[in-house]
Amino acid sequence: MVNKILRFITSMRPIADARRGFCNRCGTCCKLPNRCKFLRYDEKGLSRCAIYRWRPPSCRKYPRTERENLTSQTCGYYFIKFEEPAALVGCADLDPQITGTLREIVK
Ligand code: SF4
Repeated sequence: MVNKILRFITSMRPIADARRGFCNRCGTCCKLPNRCKFLRYDEKGLSRCAIYRWRPPSCRKYPRTERENLTSQTCGYYFIKFEEPAALVGCADLDPQITGTLREIVK
């Protein structure tokens, strides 16, 4: 329940840039911590939301960050790790403008 409240509050924030993948409609997140009363399944066993157009931001953005992803075993979304900016600053192949931006980031 604490995680649900936390996700509701943080859902006002943007989705992490590191998120990749897609919703495979496993429906696992719709059971956190209890099965949502709007959760339905189609004839193929794929989940769907009975109030999809009006679903709250916490559902709309789930999983917003890797930390908030409680369903990584089944979820179609995943999070990539970005290279450390400091490691890229010295990369000879980078455009000087990008290198300058990286220097600003790692300051
Ligand atoms: S856990 Fe992930 S893949 Fe499954 S329904 Fe939720 S968002 Fe979609």
